[in-house]
Amino acid sequence: MKILSVNAGSSSLKFQMYEMPEEKVLISGVFERIGINGSCYTIKLNGEKVSKDAILNSHKDAVKILVEELIANNIIADLNEIKGIGHRIVQGADKFESSVVINDEVLKTISDLSSLAPLHNPAAVIGIEAFKEMIPNAVAVAVFDTSFHQTMEEETYLYALPYEWYTDYQVRKYGAHGTSHKYVANRLSDILNKKDSKVIVCHLGNGGSITAVKNGKCVDTSMGFTPNAGLVMGTRCGDIDASIIPYMMQKTNMTPQDIDNVINKKSGLLGISGVSSDSRDVENGIKEGNKRCLLAEKIFVRRVVDYIAKYYVLLNGVDAIAFTAGIGENSITIRKQIIEKLSILGVELDEERNNVRGKEQLITADNSKIACYVIPTDEEVMIARDTYSFIEG
Ligand code: ADP
Repeated sequence: MKILSVNAGSSSLKFQMYEMPEEKVLISGVFERIGINGSCYTIKLNGEKVSKDAILNSHKDAVKILVEELIANNIIADLNEIKGIGHRIVQGADKFESSVVINDEVLKTISDLSSLAPLHNPAAVIGIEAFKEMIPNAVAVAVFDTSFHQTMEEETYLYALPYEWYTDYQVRKYGAHGTSHKYVANRLSDILNKKDSKVIVCHLGNGGSITAVKNGKCVDTSMGFTPNAGLVMGTRCGDIDASIIPYMMQKTNMTPQDIDNVINKKSGLLGISGVSSDSRDVENGIKEGNKRCLLAEKIFVRRVVDYIAKYYVLLNGVDAIAFTAGIGENSITIRKQIIEKLSILGVELDEERNNVRGKEQLITADNSKIACYVIPTDEEVMIARDTYSFIEG
């Protein structure tokens, strides 16, 4: 059965088509600069990438070309072969504890939640509508980044703010990257072969979050009301003293939009290093002796370690820690620094095993008290699995 896994952004649309239940990727790609000059798309098929220019005035144009490419490349002969389309949705708030089949009411709720994810949910709605129009017979499923975190208890997800901010304005911790955390936590529990496992998943990409998982359920996560909480990220500040915001607004006459822009787009690795949001550039800066790059990496590492320590206590001990996403899967040096700072917990790095990028591997020594792994994440397959499960009952 053919299932499409879709991630629609405001000007992009990523897709991956699976043969299910085998989970075989048949074709994948990305449409970029939708509605902007210079739009194009890239398709990956049989290990080869092909990029083409295209006029993409809307997401509908992208879906139309996608369908043409699927037919031209003999992936499908007929549109009806696509039985399901799974859509990645960033914000489901406390409305969705799991994935759902999309009907008018679900679509409206996703749209109504746009104030909590102004960049992401409106784009997802546009994507859902474009696919519905072009491929009406496929079952459309919404897979939420927030669902995995819905198992957090009230004492975990509430902020110490006036309670009415929660009841009247939905201010609470929702978390992010849930689909990735769930995939990696499931994979870890398979590796450990232990159902009642206690694990910590470090999703370290351009955006980053850490989740404490007990028996497959999320107990706490570092992301908050928005995806700008917890860790130091590429351009996001993560946890800060909230009073810095009114202080800087008064000092510099910044508007709420101005300050929002600074804490989301000009902070994190970029803000401290002054060089780049990309950890590879920061690592190169360190090699060239740039002190602010070194400082940026130290603050980044320190925050990750703080969260691991906090979740170690919360979980009352940990069986395993996983590193995933761009930095977690690829940065040998950042993983090394994090693990070395965990020595008090009996964690011992194996340098040779850690010399790995983008591949599932144990990276600690056999006598390490906590096993640490690199586990490449796969959000797309999770979306395809959930979508398939609705069709196969
Ligand atoms: P997101 O999906 O949040 O945009 P990614 O998971 O793609 O981000 O992660 C991007 C980060 O991963 C960047 O900081 C980048 O430097 C880092 N990264 C990607 N590849 C490598 C690599 N080979 N070595 C070190 N860091 C890498």
